[in-house]
Amino acid sequence: MERPKKTVRGFTVSRRCDDCGAKITIAIDEGDKCTLKCSQCGKEYRFYYKS
Ligand SMILES: [Zn+2]
Repeated sequence: MERPKKTVRGFTVSRRCDDCGAKITIAIDEGDKCTLKCSQCGKEYRFYYKS
């Protein structure tokens, strides 16, 4: 089993795409903000960390 991916801040990416249910991978990880992208349909999910 593949280990869940984590962002710089330690956020574990384990969710799936709302549209197609495919795995979401980390596209951009800049610490305070990261962009997750569906590996199948390309839908992007943005996350921001508040300090
Ligand atoms: Zn998708």
